[in-house]
Amino acid sequence: MKKELFKQLPKVDEIIKIPEIIELSKNIDYFNFTEGIRDGIDHFRQGIARGIITELHLKDVVETIKNIIEKKSQMNLRNVINATGTLVHTNLGRSLISEKAAKNVVDVITSYNNLEYNLEEGIRGSRYDHIEKLICTVTGAEAAVLTNNNAAAVMLALNEFAKDGEAVVSRGELVEIGGSFRVPDIMKISGTKLVEVGTTNRTHSKDYKEAISENTSMLLKIHTSNYKIVGFTKEVTNNELAEIGRENNVLTMEDLGSGVLVDFGKYGLKKEPTVQESIASGIDLITFSGDKLLGGPQAGIIVGKKKYIDRLKKNQLLRALRVSKMALAALEPTLRYYLNEREAIEKIPTLKMILEDTVKVKERAAKLLEILQKNNVKCRLVETEATIGGGSMPGETINSYGVGIEGNPVELEREFRSGTPHIVGIIRNNQFILDAKAVKDSEIHPVANRAVDIIKNK
Ligand SMILES: *Cc1c(COP(=O)(O)O)cnc(C)c1O
Repeated sequence: MKKELFKQLPKVDEIIKIPEIIELSKNIDYFNFTEGIRDGIDHFRQGIARGIITELHLKDVVETIKNIIEKKSQMNLRNVINATGTLVHTNLGRSLISEKAAKNVVDVITSYNNLEYNLEEGIRGSRYDHIEKLICTVTGAEAAVLTNNNAAAVMLALNEFAKDGEAVVSRGELVEIGGSFRVPDIMKISGTKLVEVGTTNRTHSKDYKEAISENTSMLLKIHTSNYKIVGFTKEVTNNELAEIGRENNVLTMEDLGSGVLVDFGKYGLKKEPTVQESIASGIDLITFSGDKLLGGPQAGIIVGKKKYIDRLKKNQLLRALRVSKMALAALEPTLRYYLNEREAIEKIPTLKMILEDTVKVKERAAKLLEILQKNNVKCRLVETEATIGGGSMPGETINSYGVGIEGNPVELEREFRSGTPHIVGIIRNNQFILDAKAVKDSEIHPVANRAVDIIKNK
């Protein structure tokens, strides 16, 4: 019996001639195409061997192979729908860049460009020149340089200014950012000795002053991006730290993490310290990310006094940590939006979503609810709490709405996540929820269709 079935199994050369299969070869490389066919045949071979498959139809084999090839033709790095309610979600790619920025990336990288070429003089140019002035205009800094990300920016600055020296940091600011950015470890890698001052909850000016010795290279302030110390607390402000640095002739630096350029306080949210304020405080160097609240591509931005930035530009490590042309191409249009704040909050997706009226979010959730209920999916509208994420406003939430779906939440979470389109939701109070805050208008129908499919197949 099994022997007979094995004999009936089609060969690769036979499958490859079937028109439906030929059609599929157009969207995939030959390697994955033939591997898909072999995997499909193998699936049936194993099924027969185990006695699970007791009859064989060519159309089933073709169907299975079609599914395998279709899966293989998708890129591994692909789109997901963010129904988590966390806007700058590091696992889901952080900030979305604007249409204009995305278009500029495509334009720049599908053609030769002046990345490191000075078109006026016909000589070698610097990749940093395209954007330095713009960064200075929007932040108020004297000078700027870019790296691959903020972790690289911090490492570069420590390497240049505090290698074999000491950097003084408050015990309340020894942060760990997800994905292994831990301040003590970064110090080690950079060859800097970490000198901790103060206590977890309280650090005073005198703590920094007393720690300063001839070995001190830097006073470093780090934004506590993802946690909050509450209660009986005291921290030294960047203004105070800059002054201590000046008085003692020690360089000061602030790792701002997120890089906020608009004052969220004005829009009714919790105020986050802005880059402009850090510059105004007199701190010598400030580092921040391009893809957190700035709403641009992955990049590290270092702003500050020209004499220090000039030294960073000459550091050999910068070559290894340098910003990509794709990031530069996305960053320039993003930063240009900041020349007019109104435009920035309308056109930069991260800012737009953060500031979007809750009424609009509720409408989106209600639209999804309506479609689902029409299709007999048991669900209800729920109030949720969205978070900004990306290391800003820890503990703060934004009122939001979502749709809670009836059923085993763990199973639902897995099913929404694994099928296409991939939809990542959340589980709260033992309920699976699709939070509408970070879901685009154009994604409501795809989410609804997928949800209906999942529930129907139960
Ligand atoms: C996020 C963050 C970093 C790391 O920035 P990346 O751009 O992810 O490398 C470093 N420091 C602080 C305080 C942060 O919030």
